[in-house]
Amino acid sequence: MISIIYSDKFLLHKTSDNHPERPERLRAIIEALGQQTDNLLLHWVEPTSRDLRKYLNRFHSSKYIQKVEDMANNGGGNFYEDTFVSPDSFNVALLAVSAWMDGINLTLKTGYPSFALVRPPGHHALQNTGMGFCLFANAAIAAHYALEQPDVERVAILDWDVHHGNGTQELVENNPHIALCSIHQSPFFPFTGREEERGAYDNVLNIRVKQGNSIKEYKPIFEERVIPFLLDFQPNLLIVSAGYDANEADSLGWVKLQPEDYGILTKLCLGITRKIIFGLEGGYELNSLAQSVIQTIKACVSSCSPWD
Ligand SMILES: [Zn+2]
Repeated sequence: MISIIYSDKFLLHKTSDNHPERPERLRAIIEALGQQTDNLLLHWVEPTSRDLRKYLNRFHSSKYIQKVEDMANNGGGNFYEDTFVSPDSFNVALLAVSAWMDGINLTLKTGYPSFALVRPPGHHALQNTGMGFCLFANAAIAAHYALEQPDVERVAILDWDVHHGNGTQELVENNPHIALCSIHQSPFFPFTGREEERGAYDNVLNIRVKQGNSIKEYKPIFEERVIPFLLDFQPNLLIVSAGYDANEADSLGWVKLQPEDYGILTKLCLGITRKIIFGLEGGYELNSLAQSVIQTIKACVSSCSPWD
C-alpha cells in the first residue's frame, strides 16, 4: 500500500501575497485526491515530530539554521527576495524534513512507495543559505538518513523538477553511496547543473532539456540515460525530488509535459525498484500540479498490487 505523509501544519508556512509557493498548492492536491473515485488504497500518515536541530547541523551551517530560527521567532523575513520565512516556518520546515524521513522508514518497512506531500520544498537549499523557495535540503537529508538504516548501502536520487537541484547536488556529490540524476531546463534558474558536473565519484548525472521539450524528448531520455544511470548504481532505495513545474501549464518552467506524462515517468522509475520515496518540490499551477501528483500515485498503485 502506498503511504502518503501529510499534515495540515504544512499550510502554516507562509510566503508573500501572490507568491507561487503557497499553501493552496497542497490544498489543491489533497482536495483532488479526495475526489478520486478509484479505490487508491492510500495509507495516510501524519509526519513524526522529531527534534532535528542537532541532526540538521550535519547538512546546514549552524549559523544558517540559527538565522532561519531567529527570523521565524522575530515575525518572519526573506532571503534573496523570493524565499520567505514566516513565524511557523522553522518548525514547519523541520517537520517537512521529518516527513521525508518517515517516507524512508515506511518504504523500507513495507517495500512500497511513499509520498511526502510537504512544504516548503528543499532541493535548492544550500549548506549556508536557503534559496529558490527552499529552506532545508529535504531530499539530500533523507538520502543520508536512509544510509543509516540497516541494509541500505546505496541510495539514488532522481530530481525531475524543471529546475536543477543545486542544493541536493552540493550535499551529495562527494558521497560515493549516493547517486543523483537531475533533469532540468537549461539555461534556467538556478543556472547550475551543467553536464560536466559529474560528482566526485561520477555519481552525478545532469541532463539538460530545452524550452518547449515534451514527453517526446523526455521518454527517450529516461529510457536511454536516466534509468540506465540509476539502475547501474544498484540502489537499495530511490528518492524522487518530485517537482511538477515541467508541466506545460506551469508558468515557472517552459517545458511541455502533461499531467499524464508523470504516470509514464513514474512507471519507468518503478522498473528500477518499488522502494521509491517521492517528496514534493515545485509545481505551481494548481490543477496540473494536483493532477500530476495523482498520475504519479496511480502509476504506483497500479504497479504495486498487494498480491504480487
Ligand atoms: Zn522547480
